[in-house]
Amino acid sequence: MTSPRVAPDSPGAVLQLIRAGAVSSRAKLAKLLGVSASTAGLRVQALIDHGYVQELDDGLPQGGRRPRRIVLRPDYGEVIAVDLGSHHAAMGQYDMNFRLIEEHEHTPVRIEEGPDAVLGWVTETIENQKIEPKRLRGITIGVPGPVDAGTGRVVSPSRMPGWHGVNVRVQMFGRGARVPVLVDNDANLAGLGEHAVAPVEHMVYLKAGSGIGCGVIASGRLHRGSVGAAGDISHLPVPGHEHTPCSCGRSGCLDTVASGAALVRDLQTVGARVRTPNDVVALAADADPIATRMLRDAGRATGELLATVVNFFNPDALVIGGLLSRTEPFVASVRAAVFERSLPMATENLQVRTSRAGHRAGIHGGARLMVEHLLDPQRVNETIENG
Ligand SMILES: [Zn+2]
Repeated sequence: MTSPRVAPDSPGAVLQLIRAGAVSSRAKLAKLLGVSASTAGLRVQALIDHGYVQELDDGLPQGGRRPRRIVLRPDYGEVIAVDLGSHHAAMGQYDMNFRLIEEHEHTPVRIEEGPDAVLGWVTETIENQKIEPKRLRGITIGVPGPVDAGTGRVVSPSRMPGWHGVNVRVQMFGRGARVPVLVDNDANLAGLGEHAVAPVEHMVYLKAGSGIGCGVIASGRLHRGSVGAAGDISHLPVPGHEHTPCSCGRSGCLDTVASGAALVRDLQTVGARVRTPNDVVALAADADPIATRMLRDAGRATGELLATVVNFFNPDALVIGGLLSRTEPFVASVRAAVFERSLPMATENLQVRTSRAGHRAGIHGGARLMVEHLLDPQRVNETIENG
């Protein structure tokens, strides 16, 4: 979306039109904007000179002239997205057309080892990527906890000892990162990634893994709220669980009742040999009756809470992602509770489904956030004005 400070015929705005597929040649641009052919030509030339786009001579001859097709330059650069979970991390290297070039999925990482160890690993892994330093345009890091949208600091995360107040960007690169570094909450990024794969106007993305949280897409854009707390349902109270203490100091929060970490704790209490939420999913896949019942209860508690969200926000889609979305008892219970507890009008068009982006939702979202940041019309105009 073009910000009000960007002139509609500026190079940055023109680049948006090209990316959206609304314009493919200088002539079409002139017509769309109602400007002269020479003005349209100047805008396109500025984008070519700064390496954003190129023109291809692949049109059919028309009256002796070949219309040249304007496309984004695939070699403009690449971005790296890192998705840190409680027990695993994923990393993806993307080009500016949002094509996944290389991926490391499911690398074991323990977030509880603290920022020094985990971010040291991230820095090292980025350095080992086969990517020319000058082609790297930006890095996005997703963390499994609340992030202050203004400063990029991690704020009071559950189960992330040593991370409170950590500015991930500064911790990794000091004060002088060579490229832009964005830090965001993992559920926000997963919501963005899901939206890139399966766009709808209004979406709630539930990330149910070790922790539990939501990413909110409102009118096609990520909604972070005033300080970045939007969608964080982890410490909302679940009725009937007033005696289960939570890491936040209160009791009966969704996180301590229905998260993957809570299920691990509860299964260990009854003697099951589980260490991570992955083990819980594996037990359910083996039709273990206790794990299945616990997942069903967790799905019901989550769905009942999300029914309030659905009534209030009226999304087009409620997407269930994260590790627990791989188990049918959890997904079916969320769906049933949402439809039972929501107003008929709020669920008239509602799709409740599992994630199409799957385990790549987080890295997809990180890449999308960075590409949109880099190709933001105002930023492009400033880059061109500053030579
Ligand atoms: Zn809590």
